[in-house]
Amino acid sequence: MPERGGSRHVPKTLPDFQQHFPNEEACIAHLYAKRSPDGFVCHYCEQHEVDAGPPYTFVSRPTVYRCRNCKRDTSLTAGTIMHRSKQPLYTWFWAAFLVTGLTPGMSAVQFKKMLGIERYETAFQMLHKLRAAMVRPERDPIGQKFPVEVDETFVGGATQGKGRGVTDKVLVIGAVEVMPRRESNKWGGRDPNLLGGQLPTHRGGHGRGILAGRLRLQVVPDRKQETLVPFVQANVGQARKCGRTRGLGTNRWPRGATTMRLWPSVGTTRRPTSTSR
Ligand SMILES: [Zn+2]
Repeated sequence: MPERGGSRHVPKTLPDFQQHFPNEEACIAHLYAKRSPDGFVCHYCEQHEVDAGPPYTFVSRPTVYRCRNCKRDTSLTAGTIMHRSKQPLYTWFWAAFLVTGLTPGMSAVQFKKMLGIERYETAFQMLHKLRAAMVRPERDPIGQKFPVEVDETFVGGATQGKGRGVTDKVLVIGAVEVMPRRESNKWGGRDPNLLGGQLPTHRGGHGRGILAGRLRLQVVPDRKQETLVPFVQANVGQARKCGRTRGLGTNRWPRGATTMRLWPSVGTTRRPTSTSR
């Protein structure tokens, strides 16, 4: 089993990087430590390895961990841009290092050459995924002016040929601004949620006179508080209060709440009566 914890050191130079991630095993150990800092927790039955015992591992599939309790497999790369890639983690780590640190304007051709990737298309796709994953840090947080609703859902469909009940769905968390309809004048009075030329069939927001404003989405590995709270903190500004329970200032996701509404700390008068489904 890889070590727990994982190093906080961020390599800055090529020799440093090479020393930290000399091979595939080192990359797997690093990712494992990052994703399971307190030990393995099954993605499905949520049994901790302390109770269920350490997961089964396979020499031929080093990034798969099989739960001793429910016998299902959790992939180390599930929910990341590396998921289902045929490229080794080692290549992905190098790719991420090059894209984020060294050569900002790198082309897919350079990328392909430097990492010894066989196909141009593969290099192009990796580059694209890495760039998409690097969220613009200066992006304005939402919810400065309007309330924000946060919810998570599974996206994707049933998988063929993998047996009953097996799906490739990914968990996505979203935060959306809830904007009064009268504020939509910003878009020239048009409903920003409708395509050009499309006419509204109702008064928007299920007749409540509200519209969806800006949206933030992220694929997440699980729906744990430790996963969801940082997303909200990173994307929603001034998120001090939320409808049903105390706010995120206490670093807590409301117990039992699947949907929640966050209110700007200033300038809000209306409160919801209920935010749960
Ligand atoms: Zn399990």
